[in-house]
Amino acid sequence: MEDIVIIGGGICGCSLLYELSRYKTKVLLLEKENDIAIGSTKANTAIVHAGYDPEPNTKMAKYNVLGNALIQKMCVDLDVLFKRIGSLVVGFDETDRKTIEKLLEKGIANGVKGLRIIERDEMFEMEPNLSREALCALYAPSAGIISPWELAIAQAECAVKGGAKVQLNAEVKSIKKEKDYFILETSNGEIESKYVINAAGTSSDLVSQMIEDKFFEIHSKSGEYFLLDTTESGIVNTTVFPCPSALGKGILVSPTIHGNVIVGPDSKSVERGHNECTAAGLAGVKKGAMRLIPNVNVRASIRNFAGIRADAGLEDFIVGESDKVSGFFNIAAIKSPGLTSAPAIAKDIVSALKKKKDLKFEANPKFVSKRKVVRFKHLEAKEKETLIKKNPLYGTIICRCQTITEGEIVDALRRPLPPHSLDAVKRRCSSGMGRCQGGFCGPRVQALISRELQIKENDIPLDRADMYIITGKTKNEKEGSL
Ligand SMILES: Cc1cc2nc3c(=O)[nH]c(=O)nc-3n(C[C@H](O)[C@H](O)[C@H](O)COP(=O)(O)OP(=O)(O)OC[C@H]3O[C@@H](n4cnc5c(N)ncnc54)[C@H](O)[C@@H]3O)c2cc1C
Repeated sequence: MEDIVIIGGGICGCSLLYELSRYKTKVLLLEKENDIAIGSTKANTAIVHAGYDPEPNTKMAKYNVLGNALIQKMCVDLDVLFKRIGSLVVGFDETDRKTIEKLLEKGIANGVKGLRIIERDEMFEMEPNLSREALCALYAPSAGIISPWELAIAQAECAVKGGAKVQLNAEVKSIKKEKDYFILETSNGEIESKYVINAAGTSSDLVSQMIEDKFFEIHSKSGEYFLLDTTESGIVNTTVFPCPSALGKGILVSPTIHGNVIVGPDSKSVERGHNECTAAGLAGVKKGAMRLIPNVNVRASIRNFAGIRADAGLEDFIVGESDKVSGFFNIAAIKSPGLTSAPAIAKDIVSALKKKKDLKFEANPKFVSKRKVVRFKHLEAKEKETLIKKNPLYGTIICRCQTITEGEIVDALRRPLPPHSLDAVKRRCSSGMGRCQGGFCGPRVQALISRELQIKENDIPLDRADMYIITGKTKNEKEGSL
């Protein structure tokens, strides 16, 4: 019997797993896909929001501001890329100025530090490429940029090293409540647990319905993006937003932590499970971005993608124990700023679980609080030389666009929760994230996965299970002809 089962390995599930791994509780995370951080956590804007958007006195406001503060130390401890670059919400007329003043008030009420309204001279000094139509902006110095999937992976890796368990390819199909425990039927068999945490993202309503608690419904809202080549870096220095509207925070232009520029997202209702980009959607994103930064060059796009928001039509997150079924907790309807909020949500759930008499929260002596990974391209020449002498695998570049070495890929394949797909390697060490999008390194990474994990190349998926890269041979080997 497990003490706690977490359903869903996104940023919320992984943050909770990490927080719980501080204690000797028996925790198991179940993820239906072949890797963690594969839902909304892998496809979003990757901004650590300052916290002026949420309405004061909401869970969203509390978790956003607390999460923003927690993330910095966590990223240092877990060696995850994060930078406080600040954000601007830009106004174009007097109506926008009123919106900005309102955001400032909300931010102050929420406890956001350093917020102020700036006027044209200061604004253009900060962002020389900003539209000359712009009038003023709300400056939030505490906003940051991060690699969301790396944070989730780092948390899960440390938790697993400290004794917590993760089952991949384990979809929860049904949940039955017995007197004081749950029986979960999964694609991997039955699991019993005293407590269940629903962190299933856009499927969190379906999971909640499994225990007959139908008090919310998730509607999928897609947001489409352009990811621009690193050639465009410097077009903005901060995250530049327009004023928010009923559709959300609006189409922004921002540096990414990996040196690219991200442009998007729009907001459109879609059927569950759909995350396609459309010509009309992308045209709208381009138009929105050019209103802020007229010379933004979306022709330098190296990838388009869409992320899916878990929207329950509420102004707040759903976080806490179910009113109907004791022992069942929801971390649901976690739309933006869910990434920023996740570490704070995890702490609150742990506090609630600590009140349960049948759980013991003794400190885990094996808790892993820190992690270090090699990022070869960030090292000084001397450090590179020493590293290659120690391990010659760091002397072979596998991904030319991102300068990722064989040593880094092999490291990722040997860490806890090893990746089994090409994209899972990409999420761990950024191979294939550059201009050629894996055109050069893809087959080489595939060969390394095959060599290290003893899997046939034909059996290595691109991303999700059943998305194979190699489907057959193009040559008749015997005759050497096509
Ligand atoms: C377009 C967009 C932009 C955003 N921008 C930002 C931003 O800049 N800053 C910010 O703070 N937030 C942002 N967010 C919000 C943030 O991305 C999400 O709040 C966060 O990723 C949600 O994490 P999660 O763990 O709840 O869900 P997910 O990451 O979706 O994880 C849920 C997991 O549950 C698994 N699962 C589902 N059903 C089952 C089942 N039955 N059994 C087992 N596993 C299951 C899924 O496979 C998935 O891996 C954005 C979101 C979107 C979509």
